[in-house]
Amino acid sequence: MQQTNILVINSGSSSLKYSLLSIQPQLCLMSGLVECIGEQLAHHKYTVDNQASQQETLTIKDHADALQQVFATLQTCSAYQSQPLLCIAHRVVHGGERFSAPQLIDDAVIEAIRELIPLAPLHNPANLLGIEQARRQMPDLAQIAVFDTAFHQSLPDYAYRYALPGFLYQDHGVRRYGFHGSSHRYVAGRAAQYLDKPLSALNLISLHLGNGASVTAIAAGHSVDTSMGMTPLEGLMMGTRSGDLDPGIIFYLSRSLNMSLAAIETLLNKQSGCKGLCHENDMRTIHQHAGDGDLEAQLALAIYAYRVKKYIGAYLAVLGRVDALIFTGGIGENDAWLRAHCLENLHGLGIDLDVAKNQTPDAEVGNIASADSRTAILVIKTDEEWQIALESYQYLKKPGH
Ligand code: ADP
Repeated sequence: MQQTNILVINSGSSSLKYSLLSIQPQLCLMSGLVECIGEQLAHHKYTVDNQASQQETLTIKDHADALQQVFATLQTCSAYQSQPLLCIAHRVVHGGERFSAPQLIDDAVIEAIRELIPLAPLHNPANLLGIEQARRQMPDLAQIAVFDTAFHQSLPDYAYRYALPGFLYQDHGVRRYGFHGSSHRYVAGRAAQYLDKPLSALNLISLHLGNGASVTAIAAGHSVDTSMGMTPLEGLMMGTRSGDLDPGIIFYLSRSLNMSLAAIETLLNKQSGCKGLCHENDMRTIHQHAGDGDLEAQLALAIYAYRVKKYIGAYLAVLGRVDALIFTGGIGENDAWLRAHCLENLHGLGIDLDVAKNQTPDAEVGNIASADSRTAILVIKTDEEWQIALESYQYLKKPGH
């Protein structure tokens, strides 16, 4: 029997998301999320064999414990009992310049991911914990790493270099890497299917707007610029991250407010963005407060939309011609108000929204552009896990593997 079932593991700093996906036929056989790892009580929510979702509250002290739960759940899945796994695919946030494609995980790849920890101190250690535990539990199974940064390795040097002394790039890897690669790549592929054109014939601007947010300019299927930088802090305003800001502010905070570097790092990553502006980072709550007349919430929404619009303008200039804008991520897929405000007054640039379609786009992929719009405006449900599984499958099926 052909094995096409892949377990995808996506470990965050205190959470672990997983799915069992079948490539042929395309099916989700099991999915789950463990949250609050390391806290007094963790939550495990999962669905197996299309049954009603289940929830447990229990103590999960670390990622090794969390993976025990994943493997215990896997044992209850009928698809797993009838067909062994092809591989385990791990999302790894930072692959630096070393990885522009999926990799079969061995000791050298683990070491390379470890060496990249200074570039992703919050993410790569959690990813490594997941990988190491999965290898211990299933030592004979192929494990593949799929890197969030890999899609952006096609950026030209004038897009990825910062205007800093060259040695910082050459000796220390200070450059733009970009993130959310699996999501941008997935929605680009779906856009090509929907528009019924080869990806190589399309120029796209992909807007991934979730808790983290990034925009990518895609020319002929390749990422040519992206808003996140050396770390996921640069670019758009996000749930709790500041996005672009004058680096001079950091010196000001240090000198005039006597803040430590660690405090500034926490401020910019965890206490800024929507949270900093209006004390909330869930977009649904922000809309409620704005509707109730909360001026800070209204301003946060206005800044968010304005900054997305500025990136759309920048990437229109980068690409010259744009066939489609793509909205994805929790906010991009669901927030009609924000989509409308990001695109306000762009008719002159060939981007024109259909107000009614924007309110209720089709479920998986919908075009919400008006009949007059030169550019399609697509709302696409992202599926990073599916993209990770697919790339792992293609990697293992390549001759020589
Ligand atoms: P993550 O980056 O953690 O994967 P998501 O892509 O799930 O995040 O996006 C989370 C964001 O999406 C939150 O700000 C949430 O408020 C927002 N969101 C989810 N559903 C809606 C909705 N119906 N309207 C507006 N925002 C929404």
